[in-house]
Amino acid sequence: MWYRQISRQLFHGCGGIQAVRWLRRKGVTILMYHKFPADLAMLESQCRYLRKYYQVISLGRLSQLLRNGDPLPDWSVVITVDDGHGSFYHYAYPVFAKFDFPVTVYLTTRPLDTRGWLWFDRVAYAFLTSRRQEVDLPNPPSAEGMASGPRQTAHNPMALGSRDRRLGLAEQYMELMKVVPDKYFSLCLKNLELSLGVQVPDEAPQEWVALSWDEVRLMARDKVEFGAHSVTHPILTQVEEQAQLYEEIVGSKNKIEAELDKPVLHFAYPNGQPQDFSPSIVKIVRDAGYETSVTTIRGQVFKGDDPFLLRRISCGAELPFHQFQNHVAAFRT
Ligand SMILES: [Zn+2]
Repeated sequence: MWYRQISRQLFHGCGGIQAVRWLRRKGVTILMYHKFPADLAMLESQCRYLRKYYQVISLGRLSQLLRNGDPLPDWSVVITVDDGHGSFYHYAYPVFAKFDFPVTVYLTTRPLDTRGWLWFDRVAYAFLTSRRQEVDLPNPPSAEGMASGPRQTAHNPMALGSRDRRLGLAEQYMELMKVVPDKYFSLCLKNLELSLGVQVPDEAPQEWVALSWDEVRLMARDKVEFGAHSVTHPILTQVEEQAQLYEEIVGSKNKIEAELDKPVLHFAYPNGQPQDFSPSIVKIVRDAGYETSVTTIRGQVFKGDDPFLLRRISCGAELPFHQFQNHVAAFRT
């Protein structure tokens, strides 16, 4: 809307962001990135901005301050990257390294072991590469529905259309899949891929591929710290088997420690919203020997906050610059 654009220009033009930056200086902003584009001009601008107005501290440093009950340094930012896509190594890591910024990268370990997929990338790939013009999407199975077997929707063909529409449909379907009990999850994926008529390759293509362990080892010698983000990226509250829950939380930690030969101290809850973890899950994380765990609940971190429920602010290398400034200052327009 034109008036929003004008008020935004007025806000930034009149120094509004400086005022917000000052007001929010006591909170530490943990930025959360995911994949990175090949064009890094925007990320470079973001790093220049961070170097000018903030100090980038490591998650380890924040953890230490929180545990000691020390005051948090004003105008501080922590950089985190979720999932462990290869694009971090190829594109973003050289930029962060150039600025000498510490970064914490949360790895979902299975795709690193198999060169395979994160489930949500698999869903996006299936929607994007389907040759069908329209599809009948299956209802994701639910605990109740499974008694009578997987159900199809009533005949309700849906046009796939453009890339943007397909990505939108994929996102909607992913939301439905997040409440599927874990034991029905692979069946749900298979049903979807059948409906879309897509044979997903075992190895993920370049755009979706995970980091390799060699890349991880190389970066771990630098200012990149690796945390765990589970083995398969399930919604942890949908995992019923205790053994599997431990495998996701403790097994991913053990795996990264074995590959890097150093302790893994930070965990990120997959999806990270309040419904995606519970007090018993937080306890497993705490007992496993992690020092911190991060959510995707929006907000800054303050002195006295629980290190196992850290808030973050979603970010991206493609964000319009004024939005990036707002995000770092934890300001929502
Ligand atoms: Zn994730």
